Amino acid sequence: MKDGVKKEVQRIPRKADDLSEWYTQVCLQAQLADYTPVRGCIAMRPYGYAIWELITAHFDRRFKATGHQNAYFPLLIPESLLVREAEHVEGFAPEVAWVTEGGGEKLTERLAIRPTSEVIIGTMYAKWIQSHRDLPVLINQWANVMRWEKATRPFLRTLEFLWQEGHTAHATREEAAAEVQQMLEIYREVAEKELSLSVISGRKSDNEKFAGALSTFAIEALMPDGKALQAGTSHELGQNFAKAYDITFTDVDEQVKHVWTTSWGVSWRILGGVIMAHGDDNGLVLPPSIAPHQVVIVPIPRKGADDVMPAARQLKAELSSVARVHLDDRPEQSAPWKFNEWELRGVPLRIELGKRDLEAQAVTVARRDTLTKEAVPRAEIALRIPALLAAVQDSLFAKARADREARTTTARDKAALVAALKAQKGFVLAPWCENPSCELDIKAETGAVSRVIIAPGEGEMCAFCGKPARAQAYFARSY
Ligand SMILES: [Zn+2]
Repeated sequence: MKDGVKKEVQRIPRKADDLSEWYTQVCLQAQLADYTPVRGCIAMRPYGYAIWELITAHFDRRFKATGHQNAYFPLLIPESLLVREAEHVEGFAPEVAWVTEGGGEKLTERLAIRPTSEVIIGTMYAKWIQSHRDLPVLINQWANVMRWEKATRPFLRTLEFLWQEGHTAHATREEAAAEVQQMLEIYREVAEKELSLSVISGRKSDNEKFAGALSTFAIEALMPDGKALQAGTSHELGQNFAKAYDITFTDVDEQVKHVWTTSWGVSWRILGGVIMAHGDDNGLVLPPSIAPHQVVIVPIPRKGADDVMPAARQLKAELSSVARVHLDDRPEQSAPWKFNEWELRGVPLRIELGKRDLEAQAVTVARRDTLTKEAVPRAEIALRIPALLAAVQDSLFAKARADREARTTTARDKAALVAALKAQKGFVLAPWCENPSCELDIKAETGAVSRVIIAPGEGEMCAFCGKPARAQAYFARSY
């Protein structure tokens, strides 16, 4: 048993050698997720779920602070409802799974397993909204959805996945637009502050926007292989869904009007981004803000008279008021075995407590992100731990931001744009015409598309086709 984890650790390829296999092995061996008998559907193991709960809490707190409430809507959507918004159904049709039988009988109408819930929620809003006094409606649901994907990977792309979807209805377009920006900003804040991910944010191109939306905004993170990961989206749905599902209200001027709706979502895919962005050759590296155990205490007992374990228990009791602390007191595993395991599982700080530490009235603290160790006087440890956790959190973000900036280049002409995109180093910022056919040509030649559009680009020419540019856009290949 002693070498068990060490062997497993060695089975993780070097991150730089095979990112894809490294990623899969970290998900499996850190016990975040496991494959199931259903293709493309993963089981989230308790450790992975504990991380997800912390991530969701960071979002949920901010949703509620901005006036949103949680509710729940059904998994199944009647086909006749789904087809009402033409663009929406066209966009999602290839990915929808259908229920055709129930209780041993063929259903008279097929039921879609929700790929997203605009349809069912819009239908309910049509019942609940009558007057301007009912607005705005600010509802979020935490749920599972299903999209029948071909190629799948844990968290990044799975048939069934967990997410949140916010759905709001407003009296005016301006209010809806402000909501969309507010939620995008919350996504950016959680990504940067809590997940230590460095993201770009902006508007999606017409090709890349949500099916049925007027406009989509997104945050995108950069992965180590130079591909972008869309990590959260916020959609201005205009009155498209209000018209398709007849969501109207009587305004102050007594006129009956359609509401303006929005939707916004973040899925467990963002956890995939965290794993990929921060991990190293030893495994997972968790930002303290989402680490189920922020500190693990590993006692190094000495033979004979053992005063290490009582000291470790006392240390745990003391630190529990300043951090999420786990004491690994399993007698059957050696200390080096435990060191490997907790490194693999990404615990931000490890405290080693042995005979020498006791004698020196100190503890040894190892940082997961830098793999460095320092001796901290025992009397100061409860003060040092919060500072060290904050340092890990900040330094992971600083590293991610420096990495994104270093791997973002600019291009002003076709040769430079194509060369940069083919090199696949990271984001390429370029003036762009925003023409959907130009984007398809870029994709055909380089495999990349625009990720987000950030600013007007008047006075410049499209780096790819040479027509007048309408914006500056970030381009990259993507997950
Ligand atoms: Zn162009």
